[in-house]
Amino acid sequence: MASLSRKLSSFSLLDGSRALTFSVSILLASLLISGLEVGSGEDGGDELFPAILRDEAVSRINQLGKISDADGYLERTFLSPGSIRATDLIMSWMQDAGLKTWVDQMGNLHGRTDTVNATAETLLIGSHLDTVVDAGKYDGSLGIICAISALKVLRIKGKLEKLYRPVEVIAFSDEEGVRFQSTFLGSAAIAGILPPTALQISDKSGITVQDVLRENSFEATDESLVWVKYNPKSVWGYVEVHIEQGPVLETLGYPLGVVKGIAGQTRLKVEVSGAQGHAGTVPMLMRQDSMAAAAELIVTLETLCKYPDKLFAYDEQCGFFEKESLAGLVCTVGEISCWPSASNVIPGQVNFTVDIRAIDDEARKSVVSEFSNQVYRKCEQRMVNCTIKHKHDAEAAHCDSELTLQLKHATSSALRKMPSDIHGDVPILMSGAGHDAMAMSHLTKQVGMLFVRCRGGISHSPEESVLDDDVWAAGLALLQFLDQHVNQ
Ligand SMILES: [Zn+2]
Repeated sequence: MASLSRKLSSFSLLDGSRALTFSVSILLASLLISGLEVGSGEDGGDELFPAILRDEAVSRINQLGKISDADGYLERTFLSPGSIRATDLIMSWMQDAGLKTWVDQMGNLHGRTDTVNATAETLLIGSHLDTVVDAGKYDGSLGIICAISALKVLRIKGKLEKLYRPVEVIAFSDEEGVRFQSTFLGSAAIAGILPPTALQISDKSGITVQDVLRENSFEATDESLVWVKYNPKSVWGYVEVHIEQGPVLETLGYPLGVVKGIAGQTRLKVEVSGAQGHAGTVPMLMRQDSMAAAAELIVTLETLCKYPDKLFAYDEQCGFFEKESLAGLVCTVGEISCWPSASNVIPGQVNFTVDIRAIDDEARKSVVSEFSNQVYRKCEQRMVNCTIKHKHDAEAAHCDSELTLQLKHATSSALRKMPSDIHGDVPILMSGAGHDAMAMSHLTKQVGMLFVRCRGGISHSPEESVLDDDVWAAGLALLQFLDQHVNQ
């Protein structure tokens, strides 16, 4: 790991009162461990560890869900007071699991096993500790807590020292990008893809990322960003457990699924300029109505993405798209503005956003190109002027097939042991939402993700809900996976 000593030194930045909090937390954690270790014996030797992987994990998710910067709802942004308190608490849990902990120069919290092969390539497991505004308690937290719980079980079984490679849990400081409108500040820094200019990004009140880092005693220089970056050669792979944030697993009646990739994304802004006029005097056939034109364009996009097979040929031999390439294609118009926005005026200007996502980058680019052609053609027919601006493009991140297979086997094996009766193959899903795994795929090609079923597919909402038994299943699947890295 690059400059571990420097990262360790940032741990000492914690002031006296926080250090005291840790001591008390560790003491309480130790008391808790003894109780749980007795509890784990009640598993009857079936190695399911419900006391740790379910009961304690769920209790920790609930505790973390109460740590907020806001009254009455959950909100934790990059290095906010709530995030610092959450970091302290997660650190105590990492130490309880037998991990060595430190906070790096971007505020990411690390907990690492102390194995004999300390210099071997490291297995990283992570998720984020920040949240959106009025968030649910599982998004991010679930992945961190499941990883800590699985490692705690290994510690109790005396297997932590037998891991033949170091395992490191990372709680990323920023994934959602709520405050600075820039996602993955934490994981991008570790992956080495965060440019130094990111330090100068400011929030709505003009406070920069650098200001916030310095308020929290971090150095916040170009050089300190380099210290955070990991050497790709030191990393074996990256695994992330996350709630699905969609309805597929619930519909299939399956608690867990493996992820084959994270969709690439294009964001456009379409500007439609027509002729502003009086709603009562301009005859219908003489109008250049930008609102009606925008409505037609939005329906065009919906049709294109709902029935892509009507526009694209599926022909493997001729090099056209396979059906799979366009499966999971999703397109959204989420924001629209109109000028002058009055009930008795034909709008002169309508702007709207377009978000297009697909797992196949070429397929996504073709959809963007086809939509653009249709926009210009329809705008000409309606005699309005249209411009399309590209606002954002992100390539898809593909999960490693071998690692995905390992996670799939671990999941099958965990679910077979569970008391509930679950049949069938572990579903393989695509992620339409971005995750830290996307940034980490720039550090290691060996990326794998496990999705956990959530009620109604709802996320980014206090309604977010995961069954306690599904939290247990996720922890058990991760434990099975980690077992593959233990000298038996
Ligand atoms: Zn998340």
